[in-house]
Parts: sequence; structure tokens; C-alpha cells
Amino acid sequence: MKTAIEIYKLLPKTNCGACGLPNCFGFATKLAAHMASLDDCPDIAEEDRAALRDADTGRRESPGTVYEQALESLKKKIQAVDFKKAAGLFRAIYRDADTITIEFLHKRYVVTKHAVLTDSGEKVRPWTAILIYNHLCMPSPPATAGEWISFSAIPQSHAKDKAWKGHVEEVIARHFSGKVEELKRACENFGCVKTDREGSHDAAYTLRFFPLFPVLLLFWDAVPEEGFPAQCTLLLDKHAPHYLDIESIVVLGEEFAGRMTEER
Ligand code: SF4
Repeated sequence: MKTAIEIYKLLPKTNCGACGLPNCFGFATKLAAHMASLDDCPDIAEEDRAALRDADTGRRESPGTVYEQALESLKKKIQAVDFKKAAGLFRAIYRDADTITIEFLHKRYVVTKHAVLTDSGEKVRPWTAILIYNHLCMPSPPATAGEWISFSAIPQSHAKDKAWKGHVEEVIARHFSGKVEELKRACENFGCVKTDREGSHDAAYTLRFFPLFPVLLLFWDAVPEEGFPAQCTLLLDKHAPHYLDIESIVVLGEEFAGRMTEER
């Protein structure tokens, strides 16, 4: 099995986005974690494709991958969760002792102790289930603090800071550079709510990764004549570390950026 760096070296490095990821490195990371398939990138040279075959041992649904294994272990953990209590804590909807529904990135999911399904009953990719189960397994989450902090203010975020900036905030900034109105439309399509927060930004929206996980998106458009590139900051509620572990927050942010930039 190849590492993400080894895989990256064999990719086209054009960051074209056709694989659904904002850049080739993101794709390499997902391929290394068996969350993607070689078939998702149409531009890999044949000889590189052959060299990468061993890294492509698992598509998202393949059993036995690290994500499948993590999901299996989380399923054991979720058995101990009292869904009635969890629904109250996480602002989900209690259905019965084995079923709740919860909003996640502006879509509704049906969560049982054995599977996570879309609203229309389709099974979700392992990592989606992992994020939802991880959230519901967080012990005693407090109510939101109502105070925004940057990602880098989260304890132990240092190692993930670059990923957050590069794979989340910069993806949104680059994509919507010079296109503030498109950004606003994308935010509104995503269920984000415009806020009247004061500041020099060109757009400010609140959204919820989960019902109990608010986020504030701030966007400054590029000013080419001053050499000022577009910037985006996603601020998190101060209690965010009680809502998900740091790795999961980054994956969630990447998915949010991916979905936002697809919804032009
Ligand atoms: S489709 Fe291929 S070339 Fe394009 S960003 Fe994804 S990995 Fe890179």
C-alpha cells in the first residue's frame, strides 16, 4: 500500500477537481485511505495507473478498509449510546430506541445503531457514517458557547492547521474569488443564514455542520489592484472540540468546501 505522498507523485497534479476533490493531494489522501477509486481521476497516465493499482484496493464501500474497520469499531461504541438522551443533547429527532434522524451538512440522515442512511433510505459512504457516529459518541456535549474561535485556537490543532487552511478555507476563497454573488447564492442554497456581523468582509453567513455545531463563514473578495487575494475564514463555536475530534472536524470542513464549490 502506498502513502499519500507516494500516490501524489504519480498523479497529474493539475488540481482540476474532476475527482470531486479540490486538488490532487486531497485525492491522494483519500486514495491512501481507501476512500476513493483510481477511476475517479480520468487523467492518470497508464503507467502511473498500473503503479497505483495496489493503492486502489478499496473503493468507498469495500469491506476491510481502514474506514470500514473504524466504522465497525464505532458501531460497537454506538450500541452504548442512549438515543433518547443523545437526541436531546445533539438536537436530533428521536424515533425509537434504535433510530434517530439528524441534520448533517444541510441534509437529513437516518441513524440506527447498525447503519446510517440518507433520508431516502440509501446507505451512506463509510466516512459519512463515521462522522455522524463520532459526533453522537462525543461525551456530554455542552450547549454552544456563542463565542467564535478560529480553527487554530482549538487545542492540538497545530498539526492540522495547514490542512484546514489549504483544503477548506483556501478552496472556498479561490473558487469564489471575484464572485461574491455566487458565494452568497451557494451559501443560501446550503441553508446558511446571512448575518449582520460588522467588519470589512464582503459576506458573512452562519451555518451548521450539525444542529449542535455552528460555524461562521467570513469572505473577503480579492482586490487585484492591491494584490490582495480572496480570503475565507470559517470560525467555529468555542465548544467545537466537544462536538467532534480534530481529525473529523478537518474531514467535515473538506466535505463542506467540496459541496459548496460544486454548488455554483
Ligand atoms: S481528477 Fe485527477 S488531476 Fe484532477 S484534481 Fe483529481 S486527482 Fe488531480
